Amino acid sequence: MTNSENLFERAKRLIPGGVNSPVRAFRSVGGSPFFVKSAQGATLTTADDHELIDFVCTWGPAIHGHNHPVIKAAISEALEHGTSFGTPNPYEVEMAELIVKFFPSIQKLRMCNSGTEATMSAIRLARGYTKRDKIIKFSGCYHGHSDSLLIKAGSGALTHGNPDSAGVPAAFAQETVVVAYNDCAALEAAFAANPDQIAGVIIEPYCGNVGFIMPDAGYLSYLREITAKHGSVLIFDEVMTGFRLAKGGVQEIETITPDLTTLGKIIGGGLPVGAFGGRAEIMDYLAPDGPVYQAGTLSGNPLAMAAGIASLKLLEDLDPYSQLDQLGAQLRDAVAAAAQAKGLAVQVPQRGAMFSIFFNENPVRDYTTALQGNAETFKKFFHSCLSKGIYLAPSAFEAGFLSTAHSGAAIDRACEIFAEAIKEL
Ligand SMILES: *Cc1c(COP(=O)(O)O)cnc(C)c1O
Repeated sequence: MTNSENLFERAKRLIPGGVNSPVRAFRSVGGSPFFVKSAQGATLTTADDHELIDFVCTWGPAIHGHNHPVIKAAISEALEHGTSFGTPNPYEVEMAELIVKFFPSIQKLRMCNSGTEATMSAIRLARGYTKRDKIIKFSGCYHGHSDSLLIKAGSGALTHGNPDSAGVPAAFAQETVVVAYNDCAALEAAFAANPDQIAGVIIEPYCGNVGFIMPDAGYLSYLREITAKHGSVLIFDEVMTGFRLAKGGVQEIETITPDLTTLGKIIGGGLPVGAFGGRAEIMDYLAPDGPVYQAGTLSGNPLAMAAGIASLKLLEDLDPYSQLDQLGAQLRDAVAAAAQAKGLAVQVPQRGAMFSIFFNENPVRDYTTALQGNAETFKKFFHSCLSKGIYLAPSAFEAGFLSTAHSGAAIDRACEIFAEAIKEL
């Protein structure tokens, strides 16, 4: 038995499914997960001393690669002063100042401990501010695991959704309407069917949780217009895209000003963090200034703030976005060329440090088309890459991530492996 198999057996006795987050269990690709004992740059080292080029990057945060010396030094420095104070600390102010500098739509913000908390709180705030109950979300967009957001399209799709998890009350699903991404008519119909009831619309402006999907031209401006027209709060969930595709997120690239933005992942530099912010007039509804309650024992934690600040300052200093886009393009072109040589249908949407490898005949533009991919081909490809030294997300419906540490030998080797793996399919 390998060390990973042994650890997994022990884990399964005490931790449901052996994991603390379900996708890690490898259920959608089969086999048994590996455990990682250390990570450096673009490389993970497993409990059995295998080295893997990592395209998961801890699901997004590690944009500078793993264990970056500057972030490590910032955490060590903060550690000297204590791990948590339960009072305001100077790092929180610096973090807030950094975030508003890059996100002009954010006039005020609050830190929390995960992306899930950020979106949950943003939804409550939108409801408190508008004094309406319903929200609209899009199929395939993931916003963490709070009750209001674990909802899928239902039979009465125009007016309410269905729970997407056991334990979510049907009554909550009544308050969430789910429409298809990239479908203006569906969105308009949802507003028409729920007049003056929509508190807010939450979207991943570029989807990263059903694979990587970009919006049609004009779609996000349409979203901005229709929410403004109906007095609904537009929430851009940039937990994944914030600081990953541009310092100011998708809203900078697309020049759209949402009312609220949620952040996480990169802004924690690898430690647990979330944040939500936006128009001051809305943010002032939060306690203690306003009636919408939200709190956190460890919110603004000094170690997490120090790691996040270091990560953001590095992005500011290095401005690595065109470098990351070149790495992404190199990967995309290598995969596309190998697939063409093989006569295999593959779609490789890519922008900057995000990409997907979809084994689909046609371009993927929403949840329905994402599901049309060849799941068996993905499984084979995943395991072939893994055995050759690449870790891709263990699901066909997750995006891939690059870091600056992938440049040079890692990306060249990865492109070779991808090409070999496709050839063998
Ligand atoms: C990861 C993610 C979340 C949830 O963040 P957690 O820190 O895992 O709770 C929310 N929204 C988006 C877009 C994400 O990618």
